[in-house]
Amino acid sequence: MSNNVHWSDTLLMPEAFLLTLGCPKNEADSDAFAGCLTRAGWRITRDLGDTDLLLINTCAFIKPAVDESLEAIQQALEWKNERSGRILILAGCLPGRYPDDGSGGLEDFDLITGPGDTSRLEKYLSVQSASGPEPAGGWISRYLKISEGCSNNCAYCTIPLIRGARRDRSPEEILMDAEYLAEQGAVEIGIVGQDTASWKCGRGGISWLISQLAGTYPDIWFRLYYIHPAYYPDDFAPLLAEHENVMPYIDIPVQHVSDRILKRMGRPYTGDHIRKLFDGFENNDTMLSVRTTLIAGYPGETEEDFNELVEFLSKYRCIRTIAAFPYWPEEGTREFSRQSAEDLPDESAVQSRLARIGDLADEHNLIWADRLEGEIMDILADTPLLGHSRLDAPEVDGACCFDRSVEPGRIVRCRITGGTGSDLNAEVLK
Ligand code: SF4
Repeated sequence: MSNNVHWSDTLLMPEAFLLTLGCPKNEADSDAFAGCLTRAGWRITRDLGDTDLLLINTCAFIKPAVDESLEAIQQALEWKNERSGRILILAGCLPGRYPDDGSGGLEDFDLITGPGDTSRLEKYLSVQSASGPEPAGGWISRYLKISEGCSNNCAYCTIPLIRGARRDRSPEEILMDAEYLAEQGAVEIGIVGQDTASWKCGRGGISWLISQLAGTYPDIWFRLYYIHPAYYPDDFAPLLAEHENVMPYIDIPVQHVSDRILKRMGRPYTGDHIRKLFDGFENNDTMLSVRTTLIAGYPGETEEDFNELVEFLSKYRCIRTIAAFPYWPEEGTREFSRQSAEDLPDESAVQSRLARIGDLADEHNLIWADRLEGEIMDILADTPLLGHSRLDAPEVDGACCFDRSVEPGRIVRCRITGGTGSDLNAEVLK
């Protein structure tokens, strides 16, 4: 470790800051990187300020993510040059997708490591012992990665190119990480992976795994992300009924419901399969909150295809959050190599389709605000005045605004008094 490193006056520990770009899957990688740093004696701070080490965990899923990562890197290089001895580490999908070809430009980084590759970081930090100081502050909502990579090879997606085929982590590894997060004070743990529903081991599948976690840590909220519609687990509803600490939250990226478009996307299910699943969500005994992701303007998408999507979104009231993206041609994908200019809906059509989906999302927000008004619900406080409900994921969904200050990390019983957009207002009861 450099002698120029700044040592915190109060804790006599060097300070590190992690910048995570992209989605919650990257948050899980960042947690693993943070674990390495704390074990090596670094204190994780929440403010870049005068820290000694900056680790940027990049995303390179689509071009806007690459641009965001490059912009962050530019600012990080300026930060590094402000004081000698600062350590800059580049991690994640960007170096995974564009590995160092030896052409230079990467010499300002002290270390470059691929997505979730903690072994290089551990080596760099020369970890001496598995035990180390506690990280600063509480980690209220954290993420636990159960697999790496994806074998679905959707026609538009770069993830399998960047992260490789799916490799499931063992239950032992996952439970060890859960123990670490619990010790750090996690109140909610998000289960992430590119295709979580496909996780399996000799003893069972994803529902079995979550029941192990939920049973071992009954005071922690567990939330499952990224359920591929083709592999939605039939035993998920009974799991929710059995474990109150598994959130009634279905994060299911359908992408489209037109059979023609789904086929072209390489998504192995039909619109009818999706509608059947959503019928089940609507009629479930417990209220379920569904989050879904869609692509608008996919090559070959006609008005008819899009209208089918609109009809679907209008029908299902269980949909609480809609995240819509325009199709983005990504080099190296199957779609990129076969699409032609005639296939692509023109830009104004794509924008108006996205706007239509935005209007539908607003309608769903109103429906839900109405539905929840007067409900008594548990809310997890993320800050003194803001929290999130069991129906909403932290960071990506709507927040809940308290009528008085609450200690962050506490779960408080509240009465919902209304909502604005995707956010809710709550009166704290206890
Ligand atoms: S399921 Fe498809 S879209 Fe999702 S990560 Fe895998 S290949 Fe990409």
